[in-house]
Amino acid sequence: MTDTPYRLGIDLGGTKIEAILLDPKGHSLLRERIATPRDPDGHTEYEKIRNTVHTLIRSTLEKVPEGRVCTIGVGIPGTINTRSGRVQNANTTGLIGHPFQQDLERLLGRPIAMENDANCFTLAEAREGAAKGYHLVFGIILGTGCGGGISIGGRIHTGRHRICGEWGHFSVDPAGAPCYCGNQGCVETKISGGGVARSFFEHTGRRLTLEQITDGYRQGDAPCTTAFEQFLDDFGRCLGGLISVLDPDAVVLGGGVSNIDELYTRGLKQVRRYAFHEHVETPILKHRLGDSAGVIGAAWIGK
Ligand SMILES: [Zn+2]
Repeated sequence: MTDTPYRLGIDLGGTKIEAILLDPKGHSLLRERIATPRDPDGHTEYEKIRNTVHTLIRSTLEKVPEGRVCTIGVGIPGTINTRSGRVQNANTTGLIGHPFQQDLERLLGRPIAMENDANCFTLAEAREGAAKGYHLVFGIILGTGCGGGISIGGRIHTGRHRICGEWGHFSVDPAGAPCYCGNQGCVETKISGGGVARSFFEHTGRRLTLEQITDGYRQGDAPCTTAFEQFLDDFGRCLGGLISVLDPDAVVLGGGVSNIDELYTRGLKQVRRYAFHEHVETPILKHRLGDSAGVIGAAWIGK
């Protein structure tokens, strides 16, 4: 086993930064969680995050036995521009425009791997979670936003521009709500928790979360029912088309919205309705690793 590396994973989120260390057999030796440093003015947020992650990597590496190899992978809530190497599309906005990977590599004096958090989620669920055993897996994180990733044979498919699987900003409705990305009617505005809540507020003046709208639907509240039916229909339209394009062996859902049971029954029916092909057999699976998927996936991207 001397050639099989230890694996260090970092999951950088908007509220917490988590570290994991896996031994060569993939067993977790250490888990640590700390709060993500925030700076409301935005001037020092990047430096604080970078230094915190650097310190966390160093302290975790101390647990690796002397002389053993350890890979390092970092999952971030954004993507990396292939031309500039700088972070883009990050909802932890302090990261945007910074060469986070290069900066960490310089501080550590060694290469690391860095991927979007939805890619890390997908990889973890495909290797060890709900989609284990499926070859081509499309992973979706549906929470306040909407991210996606593709794993093929237990490896992330990153694509030419490292944007593969970023399905949340596919515009499906030219008359839809404006999205921060500049488009209108993106998948994210239609089926993320944040998107549904915003749309509900615009139509009703009531500020409810998607979870509360779901409860209202279950209790027969009329505006909640209308909004929830629309959500299921949009879920089917967005995912049905995608399944016909990609024809994955499985789809796995994560994030807060994935806990809505109706997605796997009535939502699945809508997916089948909107898919181009007949007899859609693609399973739509609920995540199995929960909050741990991001950090486990980050550990597996290291090379
Ligand atoms: Zn968008």
